[in-house]
Amino acid sequence: MEILKTMNLLKYYGKDENEVRALDGVNLSIMKGSFTAIVGTSGSGKSTLLHMLGGLDRPTSGSVIVDGKEIFRLKDEELTIFRRRKIGFIFQNYNLVPVLNVYENIVLPIELDGNKVDESYVNDIIKTLGLEKKLNSLPNNLSGGQQQRVAIARALASKPAIILADEPTGNLDSKTSMDVMGLLKVTSAKFKQTIVMITHNEEISQLADCIIRIEDGKIVGGEQACTR
Ligand code: ADP
Ligand code: ADP
Repeated sequence: MEILKTMNLLKYYGKDENEVRALDGVNLSIMKGSFTAIVGTSGSGKSTLLHMLGGLDRPTSGSVIVDGKEIFRLKDEELTIFRRRKIGFIFQNYNLVPVLNVYENIVLPIELDGNKVDESYVNDIIKTLGLEKKLNSLPNNLSGGQQQRVAIARALASKPAIILADEPTGNLDSKTSMDVMGLLKVTSAKFKQTIVMITHNEEISQLADCIIRIEDGKIVGGEQACTR
């Protein structure tokens, strides 16, 4: 089943001679439960694409369909709610709340949404990511790899339709990067969680189930569909 699709997505910045075609007709199709890497060099349009997929910024034209919904038909306030309910984000710099412990960070988005924590699901995530012994620790007392594992747990915990990861291994050494990638792969398969990540690192991208290449705002090699 297709969970995420873009149709002729365009994003231009600037005007006239300053116009930059950051996305120049992107067609993507991503299947539920797949773990996809979007790989490209600096300036190829990765961040712009991730922002569009997550409804963080509006395209010049074209559409993004998440879980059957054309997200840019929504008004700003509706889009904000849709994003909170349906999309999990993982950032390069983890973005954990420093005054909350690991467990509190993991369940924070669920509680902010006024939902009940699915304890057995969350405990399974915590175990899978090896965080059982760190639940009472504050983020600043954890290594980078551990902090990113907490961020992955937090993204998974609210069962979003898709998780979008922005260079999730960008601040990690190469061994820890491979460990984190392995965990993304395992959690995607185990929890049937769709994950789309961007990276400039070819070696990192190889660990995904599916690799999409972007150059100068275009998917290279034609339109891409990702299946497991
Ligand atoms: P990547 O994430 O692959 O490095 P980006 O999506 O950040 O690529 O950028 C794609 C292109 O769009 C680049 O040429 C970049 O300079 C340009 N760009 C990105 N954001 C803006 C902006 N806010 N204003 C103008 N140009 C931008
Ligand atoms: P991981 O691979 O899980 O990121 P590391 O190999 O970086 O862990 O760290 C090994 C151990 O050292 C961890 O169990 C952690 O408790 C401890 N450690 C690493 N970095 C820090 C840090 N900045 N502050 C506190 N403890 C740390």
